[in-house]
Amino acid sequence: MRQLCALCLSLGLVASLTVPEAVEQIQRGLLTEETRLDGTPTVAVRAVTASSMQKTTWDPPKHLLTPLKTVWDSYTWEKKYTNWAFQQIYANEGRLSFCVKWDSSKKITRNERSTLNKELAIQIQKWIDVLAGYDGWKYPKVRVRIKAWAAKEKANLVGLDAEAEKFTYHGSSCDKACYRYEHKDGHYTQCPEKKKGHFDMILNLRDNLHGGGSGQDFGQTLGSSDILKELKSTDPDRMHIFLHEMGHSFGLDDFYNPENTNNKRKPDRSGSQSRFLMKAGSAVFITEYDAWMMRNMWSCNGGPQLRNIPVPTYCT
Ligand SMILES: [Zn+2]
Repeated sequence: MRQLCALCLSLGLVASLTVPEAVEQIQRGLLTEETRLDGTPTVAVRAVTASSMQKTTWDPPKHLLTPLKTVWDSYTWEKKYTNWAFQQIYANEGRLSFCVKWDSSKKITRNERSTLNKELAIQIQKWIDVLAGYDGWKYPKVRVRIKAWAAKEKANLVGLDAEAEKFTYHGSSCDKACYRYEHKDGHYTQCPEKKKGHFDMILNLRDNLHGGGSGQDFGQTLGSSDILKELKSTDPDRMHIFLHEMGHSFGLDDFYNPENTNNKRKPDRSGSQSRFLMKAGSAVFITEYDAWMMRNMWSCNGGPQLRNIPVPTYCT
């Protein structure tokens, strides 16, 4: 079931991963310009500025209907999967927790660890904002907490003070007994603090990974250097790789161009749309198109499962 979206962003290259190098590059200066593809106007519209976000039921803008339908029809097992971030957040009544594995030879300070927790919350809330008030989604605000850390070298977690920082140090790796991915039924009988000590996702931060990552319901993998750099930046879109990977944690897929000979893993199903977050390297924020893809996944997967209602006819 684990479908790694490896190197889904821009120019990452990791020898140990078996997927081809993604060659899309982030040209940020072009990201918000209007472009035309086959005569169809396409604008990378920020979801937060889109009037269609006011809709409270499935009613996407007309120009997105065909692209959205193409995307939905391309999903297979994803449509029925029961461990997306929707289900994880509902299982925790509006919370989502992490174990961060610092798989790096660099040091990360207490201040940086605290900032990372705040940033994860900000980025995840960006996705939640497109669900708030929509089609029965219950949690307009989601509380995000790093509950546990693990590190290759404990000394690299500078100023480690478990009591003061309110997280558990797990040693060299996150304790699988407390990990939702290994215990999707929500029973953590071998976890020292049982459910209270559990975490939903693992954020793996590793060396030798730059400008890319992977993600799914298990969590996300990103480059440690990228994260340390992003934590120092004031750019509101600095965490866009995590934001993209978090999209995968909600079940959204990649959009790789089959004409790109270096990257034939997935067909490009974006139709008339050309710039959006889930199309690696083409946008650094959640666009209106991304937002309706997310709403599609909620209305047709998470919503019916968690609200115990039939799958709407437009989903099939
Ligand atoms: Zn991806």
